[in-house]
Amino acid sequence: MTTASPESNLRAGFIGLGAMGHSMAGHLADRGLLAVAGNRTAVKAADFAAARSGVVAASGFADYAGCDVVALCVSADADVLENVDGLAAVLAAGAIVIDHSTVAVETAREAAKRLAARGIGFLDAPVSGGVEGAKNGKLSIMVGGDEATLGRARPVLDAYGARIALMGPTGAGQATKAVNQILVAGINEAVCEGLAFAEKLGLDPERLLPTLMAGAASNWFLDKRGATMLRDEFKPGFKCAHMAKDLRIVQAMADAAGIRHPVIDRALADYSELERRGDGELDTSALIQLKR
Ligand code: NAP
Repeated sequence: MTTASPESNLRAGFIGLGAMGHSMAGHLADRGLLAVAGNRTAVKAADFAAARSGVVAASGFADYAGCDVVALCVSADADVLENVDGLAAVLAAGAIVIDHSTVAVETAREAAKRLAARGIGFLDAPVSGGVEGAKNGKLSIMVGGDEATLGRARPVLDAYGARIALMGPTGAGQATKAVNQILVAGINEAVCEGLAFAEKLGLDPERLLPTLMAGAASNWFLDKRGATMLRDEFKPGFKCAHMAKDLRIVQAMADAAGIRHPVIDRALADYSELERRGDGELDTSALIQLKR
């Protein structure tokens, strides 16, 4: 059911109805803000729109022409720029594009530049919190851009954000996400290694997981993926291929920054190996298979 939001009459669009975007767009629709939804594989958008009154499935960029704000949650850098170019051609001056995908800082700057040439605002706004955070509308959103643009786009971000932080100018959101991904990659390495070790020691998962979660080793990944990885269930979630994409971006940034980065290197080698094995579409918890 669609409920109109009393505090905003924004007309929003959303592109990219995958593991994250489907739920995020759903929250926008629930608030009565979503007018148009699109996706590379069009049937996903048609199914999404069919289940929500007032939402149209986009058949081309022209369908977004009347939107005040269009949010993207697509896969990689080229997908973001492709959509930015399409939207730049149709949106009115004063509209805003928000990108929730994880891409390079340079891609965010390029997107902002291409849109600014048409008088359209841009926010890089990558997210953290996983598919669970998207489902329950409690994402942490790391924003790069200016305060005024964020102010106007806020009703959209409020629909699925628990914390919305302006980190600095364009690119600062992606820079923050790069830091986030080093922590996530390191935690995944430790959790998968620890649980593979626990299996060899014959420890009982029913007792192990709550005991670990009650102490200093507790973390999101162990909580959300510990039990499933021990059952060999690797439905994404967050795909290995996306993690490898993120770590390639982060590794280049860390090289440029001149820090020692064995955590990034180990994790990137592991997710690249999983991709080579044909496991790129599995959840990142499939990393436990290499540890075994
Ligand atoms: P996903 O499940 O692979 O979904 C991506 C969606 O975007 C798919 O529906 C795909 O369409 C669509 N898409 C890709 N390229 C497109 C294009 N050029 N034009 C239109 N639609 C396009 O990925 P996800 O897990 O939702 O992640 C999306 C982004 O958020 C990625 O950058 C990822 O790194 C980031 N992220 C993910 C998580 C997570 O936990 N999953 C958390 C934080 C951030 P098809 O149906 O054709 O494939």
